[in-house]
Amino acid sequence: MDCDICIVGAGSGGIGAAVAAARAGASVILVEKNHVPGGTVTLAWVHTWEPTCGTSPLCRRLWDRMQGLPGGATDIDYDCASKRLGPDGKRNPPLPFEPWAYVAAVAAELQEAGVRHVLYGTCFVGVRTDGRCLRAVRVLGPAGPMEITAKFFIDATADIHVARAAQCRYSKGAEAKAWYQEPHAPETAAPAALNAMNWCYRVREAADAPASEWDRGPFPAEAIRPSRFEVRLPNGDILVNPCGMVHADPDDVAEFARATARARHLALEVHRWTVIAGGKPNRILIGLAPELGVRETYRLIGRYVLTEQDILAGTVGQKHPDMVATSDHPLDLHGKNGVHIELDRGYGIPFRCLMPVEYDNLLVACRGASFSHVAASSCRLSRTMTVLGEAAGAVAAAAVRDGKRLDDLDLLRAVRLVRPG
Ligand SMILES: Cc1cc2nc3c(=O)[nH]c(=O)nc-3n(C[C@H](O)[C@H](O)[C@H](O)COP(=O)(O)OP(=O)(O)OC[C@H]3O[C@@H](n4cnc5c(N)ncnc54)[C@H](O)[C@@H]3O)c2cc1C
Repeated sequence: MDCDICIVGAGSGGIGAAVAAARAGASVILVEKNHVPGGTVTLAWVHTWEPTCGTSPLCRRLWDRMQGLPGGATDIDYDCASKRLGPDGKRNPPLPFEPWAYVAAVAAELQEAGVRHVLYGTCFVGVRTDGRCLRAVRVLGPAGPMEITAKFFIDATADIHVARAAQCRYSKGAEAKAWYQEPHAPETAAPAALNAMNWCYRVREAADAPASEWDRGPFPAEAIRPSRFEVRLPNGDILVNPCGMVHADPDDVAEFARATARARHLALEVHRWTVIAGGKPNRILIGLAPELGVRETYRLIGRYVLTEQDILAGTVGQKHPDMVATSDHPLDLHGKNGVHIELDRGYGIPFRCLMPVEYDNLLVACRGASFSHVAASSCRLSRTMTVLGEAAGAVAAAAVRDGKRLDDLDLLRAVRLVRPG
């Protein structure tokens, strides 16, 4: 297959990239290994948008589409969640919605934008490169192996599979303080110190809930969680994010598998504790998310690395000419060595965070873009990834239209087209 722009991964970043590129007139193929779009949002059940200043017309349209579907999204006013903190200094409400409504809204956007093909059940497995140019991605689909050639590629796989296969430089875990002089970086690098993972689940409150049949035995210490992150869904159910519970190095497959099993077990234990000892005997478990929620794995070392200093400086203190997204989410490291620092203003993310050093026709638009470990803890929100994806898609489409490489393109002009208001 051949197209102008091939995007791998249909999570928050990939959706933004596909819609923006197709709307700009490019022929787009979107490749996704699962059978639904949404990635972490739909499969790890993170179907709630945290309040943040970083949003876009696409995010708003997705929200309006979901609200238009009966029971699809809560009736919270979108604009209330367009800033992290309200005038009283308290966190504004999040925007919860249903995964099925998100899938429907995304499908409508992809179709309306004119995305040529969305290849579900199709897994990226490799690249073909030629100097500074990515020529093709190799994928395995339902019909077998296939090569997709394109003028431009966008890696939105979260774990930056494409960039790593193409030998781009990347980082994993906490960088040593000497790298970027970040206040919260450890003195020595800790490659296995990643933001914690956890398994989300859904419960329903029932006045006539039968007495719990859960075992009343002892609880693991991690399951005693009076402070879970809970969100009320459109039908009254509660989405529970037990917050950072397990850590694992993605390079250690056996350890990662053990941590995955442990996170699932702990989600059940948090629910058991909540029902038996946490004062919520009327809660019934509706289900566990299909997938583990992973906050962080590999991150590109691109043309610019977003750091803690950027986040603390805010847009007023940053001097980047190419900012394409904003966020005001706190520095938010879960689990061991947790950090939570609210910000009093928003900061910007430069387009160069999406640009690998090694290639002229590859962009990375997902949580694995060029952020330090500390910075990634803040800027990884779903809507931020969608906005970054839109920037990547719009700039890639401009490069294809003008027949130019990223370096030759008047990048600032292209970026200004997508710059957030
Ligand atoms: C537990 C948890 C709670 C969170 N809470 C919130 C919250 O409340 N609000 C908020 O806004 N954000 C929250 N976040 C952060 C946010 O959900 C994620 O950072 C964001 O959704 C990541 O988007 P992405 O596009 O980078 O990656 P993903 O959504 O993970 O998308 C990557 C896509 O690439 C696909 N893919 C991967 N490998 C391949 C391959 N080889 N071939 C083809 N396709 C592939 C995947 O299947 C997936 O669809 C939370 C995250 C976690 C883990």
